[in-house]
Amino acid sequence: MEAERKAMVEELRRYKIHDGRVLDAMAIVHRHGYIPSAFRSGADPYGDHPCPIGHGQTISQPFIVAYMTQRMEVRPGLRILEIGTGSGYQAAILAELGAEVYSIEIVPELADHARQALAVGGYGCVQLKTGDGYKGWPEYAPFDAIIVTCAPGKIPPVLVAQLKTGGRMILPVGSGVQQLVILEKTEDDLREIPDMYVRFVPMVRGAD
Ligand code: SAH
Repeated sequence: MEAERKAMVEELRRYKIHDGRVLDAMAIVHRHGYIPSAFRSGADPYGDHPCPIGHGQTISQPFIVAYMTQRMEVRPGLRILEIGTGSGYQAAILAELGAEVYSIEIVPELADHARQALAVGGYGCVQLKTGDGYKGWPEYAPFDAIIVTCAPGKIPPVLVAQLKTGGRMILPVGSGVQQLVILEKTEDDLREIPDMYVRFVPMVRGAD
């Protein structure tokens, strides 16, 4: 699938993804390996659209993965929390960029699949947890960056609290219409930068 991956990267370049490290990671990670086998036949894993992965969920379209990763300014060694592991693909991209990745998925079957796909892909170092990501992962907080790939109605305060000073969070916010928001946490301020309109699955809440 190398030719398909190259074509995907060329398309991302046309969409103004200019961070060479992000493009390299997208060229290396085998996106098709993150689509559960039951959904692989007829799937077009390298096309610029989301693909079904079961349980009503999808692996985000390549552009969104690349865009959010680029906006996070991932550097090797950063400790990153992802909410909404889904297929495990976004987590693999972050790990390929050298980040220390923690990811939470609420659907146990998806978490199991992602764990397996990440191990096969060589990213067994990604730490996965099955549960409600709204509450973050206090044992490993604070994080240099947090990426949320399901949409809460409002910015979850617990996640803001688990972000380091100087850290940033990127997340879709809203019910119905969703907007990507980038949060930058400084010593005495939280800067909120509204970005493009997007469509993610809603963040569901687990039983407390
Ligand atoms: N990042 C994924 C795509 C995620 S799709 C990828 O690369 O494939 C959104 C995921 O968020 C779904 O798998 C959904 O089950 C999960 N999700 C929804 N609400 C959640 C919550 N409260 N905590 C953790 N995961 C959640």
